[in-house]
Amino acid sequence: MQHNDPDITLITPSAPMAAETHGGRAKCLQRLVRLDLPVPRTIALSFRAVHGIAAGESPDMTRMLAPFQDEALLCVRPSSEDPDWGGPGAVLNIGMNDAKFVELSDRLGKEAASDLYLRFVQAYAIHVARLDPDMFDEISEDPIEGLGQALRAYEDETEEDFPQDTGVQLAEVLRSMARAWEGTTARLLRQAKGAPADAGLGLVVQEMAFGLGQGECGSGVIQLVDSQTGTRQITGRYLSQSQGREALHGGSDALYLEQDPRGPSLEELAPEAFAALKEYTALMRVKLREEMQVEFTIENGAVFVLDGVRVARNARAAVAIAVALAEDGIIAREEALMRIEPRALNELLHRQVDPEAPRDVLARGVAASPGAATGRIVFTAEAAQAAAARGEACVLVRRETNPEDIRGMHAAVAVLTERGGMTSHAAVIGRGIGLPCVVGASEIGFDPAHKQLKMPDGRILKKGDTITIDGSNGEVLAGEAPLLEAARDDSFQTLMTWADEVRDIAVRANADTPADAEVARRFRAQGIGLCRTEHMFFETDRLTVMREMIFADSSEDRAAALERLLPMQRADFIDLFRIMQGKPVCIRLFDPPLHEFLPSDRSGMRELAEALDLPLSDVTRRVDALGEYNPMLGMRGVRLGIVVPEIYEMQARAIFEATIEASREGAPVVPEIMIPLVSACREVELVKTRIDLVAAAVRNETGQEFTYRLGVMVETPRAALRAEEIAPHVAFLSFGTNDLTQMTYGLSRDDAGRFMSAYVQQGVYPEDPFHTLDVDGVGELLRIGAERGRRASPDLVLSICGEHGGNPESIAFCRDVGFDYVSCSPFRVPVARLAAAQLAV
Ligand code: PEP
Ligand code: MG
Repeated sequence: MQHNDPDITLITPSAPMAAETHGGRAKCLQRLVRLDLPVPRTIALSFRAVHGIAAGESPDMTRMLAPFQDEALLCVRPSSEDPDWGGPGAVLNIGMNDAKFVELSDRLGKEAASDLYLRFVQAYAIHVARLDPDMFDEISEDPIEGLGQALRAYEDETEEDFPQDTGVQLAEVLRSMARAWEGTTARLLRQAKGAPADAGLGLVVQEMAFGLGQGECGSGVIQLVDSQTGTRQITGRYLSQSQGREALHGGSDALYLEQDPRGPSLEELAPEAFAALKEYTALMRVKLREEMQVEFTIENGAVFVLDGVRVARNARAAVAIAVALAEDGIIAREEALMRIEPRALNELLHRQVDPEAPRDVLARGVAASPGAATGRIVFTAEAAQAAAARGEACVLVRRETNPEDIRGMHAAVAVLTERGGMTSHAAVIGRGIGLPCVVGASEIGFDPAHKQLKMPDGRILKKGDTITIDGSNGEVLAGEAPLLEAARDDSFQTLMTWADEVRDIAVRANADTPADAEVARRFRAQGIGLCRTEHMFFETDRLTVMREMIFADSSEDRAAALERLLPMQRADFIDLFRIMQGKPVCIRLFDPPLHEFLPSDRSGMRELAEALDLPLSDVTRRVDALGEYNPMLGMRGVRLGIVVPEIYEMQARAIFEATIEASREGAPVVPEIMIPLVSACREVELVKTRIDLVAAAVRNETGQEFTYRLGVMVETPRAALRAEEIAPHVAFLSFGTNDLTQMTYGLSRDDAGRFMSAYVQQGVYPEDPFHTLDVDGVGELLRIGAERGRRASPDLVLSICGEHGGNPESIAFCRDVGFDYVSCSPFRVPVARLAAAQLAV
């Protein structure tokens, strides 16, 4: 073989070899060779060579075989650019023929030689001659007898003798592997894993270490960490008289590696080999800067390293491994940060059912999205939204979900479907938004007509019944199961601390309740970026007072109702300020479509009439009068503040009184007050004047000083366009991209789900703009608003608080535009912190 042929290269420390030309496995083997590890001789075929073979070219086999000893057996393995893209299975023991059988019978014994030959005949028949694997079902367990039977079966099926020439065998193996890679199924499979359509395949041809024969022979795999937790622990198995990865399927015959109370170990059997393996794997960790799983063979006591691959890992282990590598000085902290996909943190962030607690299992399905949650059963997305609006945890149960259910999924604490698998809509969305999810639970006896579920043991569950969904193991549990908080271990905390050190855009949380605020603080949010105050009024006792306020005919009646709401709001804000310990809390003044607070059916009207002690006809008339054709564009947000100013005045008073109260005990509080749905500068002027008057009054009454910061939510295109005029009146602008998306597209937030999937499928929109910020259109308004706002007021604080604020791609956009912070739901805070850090690295 010519050493200067880049397409067929003996792997030496200096041979030109790159993952982009020869694949990741070839590149890795070269690294191992450079480390002087005992890697058997290997040649690498480039993508170009393999592509040529698939197209019918015949490589020069004499040249290809030249580096190997005559008596050697060979194996061929795939080497795709990214190991995750897979490739055809390895073929071992190439070169086995009648003559070698005789020779090896002398050297290794007849049984081992028969075993090797038999394995090869079977692999060749199945992978190269494409014969039916069933034809070997009947052959004897005894390799000597089995070999004769297998050879005869091969010859009967193909009507040819089993090929004896190593060159012919190898050429055929290479051809069949090259062609397998070009097949449609293989291409689709790897494309699903992110490979480009024209991804190349390299092949490596390696001299075999036998793993069978005299002395201690066998094979196994070793890694130094646990794949589930990432903690240091020697993991793997070894099987005497085996090849390839058989040890992993070797059942009770396979040995542990390190001494282990559960059974015999390689350490006891072959202590030197074990020590060498440990050392090689540790060396690879340092030099390859990665935790590696090593495939090895022991031949008569001597260790050979056949291959190394990245240790497979879940998200928790990925974090622990990256942090440990950085702490050991093997990689930089920045690199550790870059190695974790921000969304993967979701796996670490969710609650689990306490494994010690008794479990009342109702049914099982596919564990589609991790975490556990308890809630009341609802059967429609609308019911889920209504429950969430009442502040009630609900589990959305559907036959299967479709894009129209997304809003319901956002509103639910968990999702359960009767149909579907790991890639079903519910599963994909559930994982995306970190929602515990069990799918494909065919046992739940879903009966939408009667709005009930019939469990395998006969128990019937109806709308409103409480269940717990365990999305980590696919179980549906009766009632409320005890839950453990998420496993945010030390490595997670360390990684997040490093993220915070490099990050240059702040992350706050959207939090409406003390519970949300607790989560936000635990995830080290730098404040609350949006507290939706209307969400504080859905509890029954408050709802009635709220309705009295809405129904009030005279300003005295309204004042009386507001007087009762004031202490409730004040207590809410004191709670939030205390929990956030001096960090900024941005309170959005009331933004309710009023109809949400009114009953929609007759019985609701009757109840309300009773509660308010009014004739039913009065209530009906008033509800009709308050009804709007298009409430999302109606008397919402600041419009309510302009028309019924007492509401905002009450809220401002509650905020200021709470500020004084909370500042007494701890860090001084500087509340932020945000005006929603502004479209005209005059709205801001009017509201600001009134709030300033309230502030002056409270200062006067209490003799206490305090400051506050006023801001505007940019949710209408006009507010973005007029930012230059608005900015001088305020300290900050926060872009509410939910409404801004709705109004930029003229798309209803609540109704677009009906046709969104058709739009996305036909490529009208690349994605649902309510989930991924539309950088081209809505993004342009953000840019314009930011530029014009800062032109008027260079110190203006800018942020985003729509749902897009937790999305890594949207965070990148916001950082580019020069925003100071993003605000997202509390559980997305760590993802946002890491995503933001990666942008700054
Ligand atoms: C928004 O519109 O983006 C926003 C944050 O407000 P809400 O979702 O409450 O309308
Ligand atoms: Mg809004």
